[in-house]
Parts: sequence; C-alpha cells; structure tokens
Amino acid sequence: MWTCKNLWKKLAPLARSSSTLCRQNARGVLLNNERRLPLVPQAHMSSGTPGSGGDNNLYYLLVGATCVGGGFYAYRTIKGDKERYQERINEIASRPNKVVPEQPITEAPGEQAAETPQAAEPATVAPAEVPASTPVEFPSHAPYLLIGGGTASFAAARSIRARDPGARVLIITDEPDLPYMRPPLSKELWFSDDPSVVDTLRFKQWNGKERSIYFQPPSFYVSPQDLEKVENGGVAVLTGKKVVHMDVRGNKVTLSDDTEISYDKCLIATGGIPRNLQVIERAGEEVTKRTTLFRKVEDFKALDKVSRDTKSITIIGGGFLGSELACALGRRSADSDLEVIQMFPEKGNMGKVLPEYLSNWTTAKVKSEGVAVITEALVKAVSFKDGKVEIKLKDGRVVKTDHIVAAVGLEPSVELAKSAGLEVDSDFGGFRVNAELQARSNIWVAGDAACFYDIRLGRRRVEHHDHAVVSGRLAGENMTGANKPYWHQSMFWSDLGPDVGYEAIGIVDSSLPTVGVFAKATAKDTPKAATEKSGTGIRSESETEGTASSPVASSTPEPPPVPEQKDNYGKGVIFYLRDKVVVGIILWNVFNRMPVARKIIKDGEEHADLNEVAKLFNIHDD
Ligand SMILES: Cc1cc2nc3c(=O)[nH]c(=O)nc-3n(C[C@H](O)[C@H](O)[C@H](O)COP(=O)(O)OP(=O)(O)OC[C@H]3O[C@@H](n4cnc5c(N)ncnc54)[C@H](O)[C@@H]3O)c2cc1C
Repeated sequence: MWTCKNLWKKLAPLARSSSTLCRQNARGVLLNNERRLPLVPQAHMSSGTPGSGGDNNLYYLLVGATCVGGGFYAYRTIKGDKERYQERINEIASRPNKVVPEQPITEAPGEQAAETPQAAEPATVAPAEVPASTPVEFPSHAPYLLIGGGTASFAAARSIRARDPGARVLIITDEPDLPYMRPPLSKELWFSDDPSVVDTLRFKQWNGKERSIYFQPPSFYVSPQDLEKVENGGVAVLTGKKVVHMDVRGNKVTLSDDTEISYDKCLIATGGIPRNLQVIERAGEEVTKRTTLFRKVEDFKALDKVSRDTKSITIIGGGFLGSELACALGRRSADSDLEVIQMFPEKGNMGKVLPEYLSNWTTAKVKSEGVAVITEALVKAVSFKDGKVEIKLKDGRVVKTDHIVAAVGLEPSVELAKSAGLEVDSDFGGFRVNAELQARSNIWVAGDAACFYDIRLGRRRVEHHDHAVVSGRLAGENMTGANKPYWHQSMFWSDLGPDVGYEAIGIVDSSLPTVGVFAKATAKDTPKAATEKSGTGIRSESETEGTASSPVASSTPEPPPVPEQKDNYGKGVIFYLRDKVVVGIILWNVFNRMPVARKIIKDGEEHADLNEVAKLFNIHDD
C-alpha cells in the first residue's frame, strides 16, 4: 500500500507534464518530422519534486513509455479521422448515382435540346435509402440546392448542368410557378392583342415574334420525386415551398412544413419583395385590398383584372416600374374609360435616374400615353371613404381613386441571414458576398439578393435582369469549382412602350454631373426596331458577351455638329461622372452598343471631350 502511494506521489507530476510534452512532441514529429524529446530541458518536463538519480532512470523510462503510447494514440486518432473523412466524401460522391430499381429511369425531355447529355454512368442500387413502397414526395438530399425560383436560380441551374452534365439540381421556390422572367410583366404582356394572354403568358415581343415568359416548358424539368433516380440527373423545381431556416454547419435547410433537405452546395437567390408605403400599411384592410405591390405573375393577372373592372388606377412611384406600368395602363385607357394617374415626389418621371431635361421629356411622353402625371407628390395619408381610396398629399391635394399600385422599390429577401449567420450589408442590404459570390464555403448568393464587390465601382447591389442572369450563371459555375471572380458590369433597360427605350450601365444617378450627346432619331431607333434587328426581345440576351474594341473614334466621316435640340432627345448617350471619370452611361434609344459602354466604364479613364467618346456609339451614323 505504502509503495503504491509513494510511487503515485512520484508519478503524478510526471504523468501531468509528460502528457503535455508528448502531445507537443506528437505535433512536432508530425509537422517537422524530427524528434524533439531529447532537446526539451529537464526543468520543463516536470513541475513536481525532482527525484534522486535512481528515480531519474525510472522517470526516463516512464516518459519514454508515455511518449510511445501518446504517439501511437495520436497516430490512431488522425488515421481514424482521415478514414471517417474519406468515408463521408465517398458517401457524398456516390449519392447522385443511387437509384431505386423499381422505378423506371426517365430522362428530362426537352433538356437534350438545351444541353448535351453525357453517357450514363452505371447506376448503383440503394434500396435501404429509399424503400420503393414509401412514397417519396421530394428528395431528402440535393447535391445542388438553389433557394428561389427566379432568374438567378434558373441561370445557375443551367450553368451547373453545363459544367457538370450529370448534376442533380433542386430549385425550391415559394411561388407556384416554374422559373420565369419578370421584365415582360410590365411591358410586352400589356400590349398583346391576344385576349387570353393572362392565361397563356405568351406575348409578342416588340419584334413581333411570340414567346413565353417561362424560361423552359415543364417538360424541361425532372420531377422532384425522380431527381435522385434519373440517370443523367437534371433540374427539378419544388414549387410552393418556402425555405424558412438554414443550418449551414449541418448543410441542410428546413421548409415551412418542417421538411428538411440536406445539400452539398447551396445557392441563395431569393430576390426581393416590393416595398410598401407605411401610410398604406396603416390605412386598414379596405385600402390593402385595393393595393397591388407588383412583382409576380399573380400581380400581373390581378392588375389586368383590376384594369378591366375599375374606373381609376393610381400608380405611386416614378421609377422604371411605375413609369412602365403607367404607360402600359395608359395605352389600355385609350380604348376604355379607365383613368390612369401616376404620382411621385420627384419633378419628373425617372427623376432619380435621368438628368432633369430628359426626365421632363419623359414625363411629357408618359402624359401623351394618356396618364395624368402628378409630380412633387408626397403621400401624407391614405384612407377608404365612400367606396373610393382617398390619397392626401402633403401640399393639401387630394386624389380619389379605385385602386393603388405601389411601385416604391424593393427590399432584398434576407430572412435566411439570421438562421444561417450570414452577413447583411448595412448600406445596400442583401447578403454580402466575396468576389466569387460566395457567402460561406459552400454557400453562394446571386441576383437581387447579393451585395457584391464591384472592382470598378465599389460595393453594390443591383436589381437587374442582366445581373441576375450573369451572376446566377457565375455562381453556378463556381458551385462546380470554377473559382471565377464576378467582373461583369451589368446593364438594365426600360421601355416606355414600343417606341422609347433606354439601356443603362454602371451608376446612373441623377445627382451626379452628366454630359448628354444627342442626335435625331430615325424609325430604326426604337426598342421595337432594335429587337427586330437582333431577333430577340430580352435585351440582355441580345447583348453579346463580346468585348468592345479599344475606344477609337468612328472611321465614318465626321458628322455635322448636332444643333442643341431643345425638346427632341431622339437618341443619344448620357455620361454620368464621378471625379471626372465616367461611372455610368445611358444609351437613349441607342441599342446593341452596350459592349462599348462597358469598356468605357471598365477603363475608368478621364476624358477631356466626351463628345469624342460619344462618337464611339455612332449615334450620328444612321
Ligand atoms: C415587373 C418587373 C419588370 C422588370 N423589368 C426589368 C427590366 O426591364 N430590366 C431589368 O434589367 N430588370 C427588370 N426587372 C428586375 C429583374 O426582373 C430582377 O432584377 C430579377 O428578376 C432578379 O432575379 P432574382 O433571381 O435575383 O430574383 P427574383 O426574380 O425575385 O426571384 C427570387 C425568387 O425566390 C423566391 N423566394 C424568396 N425567398 C424564398 C424562400 N425563402 N424560399 C423559397 N423561395 C423564395 C421568390 O418568391 C422568387 O420567386 C423587372 C422586375 C419586375 C418585377
């Protein structure tokens, strides 16, 4: 008993110190492949009472034995970790190929035309994972999970499949529809002469060709139930399901019905929801019932019905969406007794974007479409009285109407940031992402919901179709390992009906100094003519990815100087300057020259004479 006690007294401090030492040594051996033990000073080896000479031999024996034991333990632990990691990787890699034998293997019809199918890999059977008797509504795991079923998600799905042809992509959207494009909802759909346009959602582009707002027909997609089984993978869309929680460490999301779906790579492309005015939100149910916040197919359908059933619609907001809808409804009012009113705080339409003279010109154009435009209108109160919605303005004016369309901006959808622990930008809103559109190691963000770093113009968040397409595409590529930076300077466009349109790039903010160079427009300088020429109605698609040549002036003979046109801004180029450098450009009724504008912004040079730069757009040629 005494011996045991005595021995323990001597060994206890040694056991403490030697275990620390061995761990250090194990790390040292692993890292440096050298033995450190003999170099460690004795004083560092023990905090206990030094023993006698005989004891020292015993100490060395024990230290040596503990080191060997500790080293073996460390080796086993690391080896075990490696094996577990490899098992996990193998398991993930094998998932896409698993198939339930009882189900016939189907291919996604229609997709073949769009993407080159790859040779099928031999399918392996995993009956334990998905028992054939259990009805599977949707997969419990998706290698590529895309949250949101809009433009950015669709573009990502396409690029994932292009780079990884066997990929299984699951899109989850809270809308009831398959992915579709939004721009026609405020443009061409309103100008269709087909009475069933609300059902078909097919429309005539300005160039007369017909197309659907849906990016692909239903036959393009795999059903979610089949996603894990189809031989060559595909794209499945889970409609009417909202992702309400993200567990980024567990790599899984939770839907509003508590279903969990795990993923390997995830894209957040949740876009945004339209803002409302507080005075409308506070005005009560009768006003809410008579207010449209315009974003989705349902909103188009609802507003179409309202425009047929009521006598007066008031659009609040003077930006591109409000102005487009005003023009569209104004045209409709020509054949009916519908009254269309548009009101906004600025002095003219698109006053936050266009320089004052052009904003005034645009206001005149909107008025000529049959719209009663009320400028410098700040809404103070909204109420429902005697069957009418009453809008009181700050300056005392009162407008009575049947229905309100609030087109007052967008709030990026970032609800998932909280559960996911992702950063939201405090200035611009949206998820902050790095140059590769990545928010975390296996999470990317694209489209309206992404706040990205623009190497020319600083941190930004943009709400453009073209940005949604290109950022979605890039995020998809990076999800398959491309590691590409987002360099694209996105453009946007707006059409006030088939005759007037503009394309813009960079920072177009009317508070910046601008220089505009204009020429007389011809019949060729309209959105309609531009789409006829390019053969496509969606302008960001008609825009080539080609790069512009170096900025040299047009080789065509020098045109006569264009006299200052007081009221006729037929076509032209407007440069927006910051510190004398062009940071934004609007091409006013000038089409398909966006690569030139992109190059000017990319170069970021000071230009002594912007009239010379304007010649690059050949606005005097036609
Ligand atoms: C009427 C209209 C006209 C426009 N015209 C133009 C134009 O002329 N030119 C231009 O450049 N841009 C235009 N835009 C803007 C352009 O359409 C948007 O920039 C683009 O749609 C953004 O794409 P996105 O994929 O980021 O977001 P969205 O298209 O908004 O898609 C996001 C999707 O995610 C869904 N979602 C959100 N949260 C969740 C969740 N938690 N779970 C599941 N689903 C979720 C949403 O319901 C939505 O379906 C227009 C927009 C509108 C509304």
